[in-house]
Amino acid sequence: MNIDSRLIPGKFVELLLITAKQLSTWLKKQLSSLDKGWWNSLVLSTLSYQQKQWVDRKNISDIEGLDLAALLRILDQNWYRFAQQFNFSTQDRHYVKEKIRTRHDEADSRTYEKKERSVKTSRPNHDPKIWLKDQYTNDDQKLVCQMCANEMPFKLKDGSYYFEAVQVSDDFTKENHELYLAFCPLCAAKYRYLVKKDHTIMDNFLGNVKETKENFEIPIELGVNGSHSIRFVETHLLDLKTILEN
Ligand SMILES: [Zn+2]
Repeated sequence: MNIDSRLIPGKFVELLLITAKQLSTWLKKQLSSLDKGWWNSLVLSTLSYQQKQWVDRKNISDIEGLDLAALLRILDQNWYRFAQQFNFSTQDRHYVKEKIRTRHDEADSRTYEKKERSVKTSRPNHDPKIWLKDQYTNDDQKLVCQMCANEMPFKLKDGSYYFEAVQVSDDFTKENHELYLAFCPLCAAKYRYLVKKDHTIMDNFLGNVKETKENFEIPIELGVNGSHSIRFVETHLLDLKTILEN
């Protein structure tokens, strides 16, 4: 087949527009059948902070006004509402996630360099902090710690919150952003020292994550330091469960 290469960029944009149009029509039909207040509960509440600001600025009040990135995000965030009904597979989900990662590349398997001792050399190609910030910024634009549930204690010069992204466990070979938790410095230290260095506490916590159904707040017992819990947004917890189950 001969393709005039000069036409490709135009064709590509056209394809994206068609995709966006079809996806918005489909989402509107499905979401409106799930909830009368769907625009607020299933659309606006699922958008990232930047997307929400954009919707406000442009005064968008219909799903057809959203771009493909926002539509994909809505699909992703409502995934578990659709998965059963439409028999979506894990592969479908991976495909959607792949599309969403415009600024994110696939997480590489870790590689190790042979030095004096093994040093982890590969990092996720994207910063899990960007993703976590998106997930854990509440409606008041405050970034909240997953353990103590408080607003992160201080901001950097540029106005962004300081927080720490801690990997759930060091036993994973993939470095997906779902494997990180957003903590304030104190809770990050608690997690590193009291959870990651204690196999029993770690196993109990991961077991609780795997078993939880409706509850997005996972209890974690820290011995002499008492009971704590780690709070998740739905999509983070469900994705983490999927990774743990594989
Ligand atoms: Zn905290």
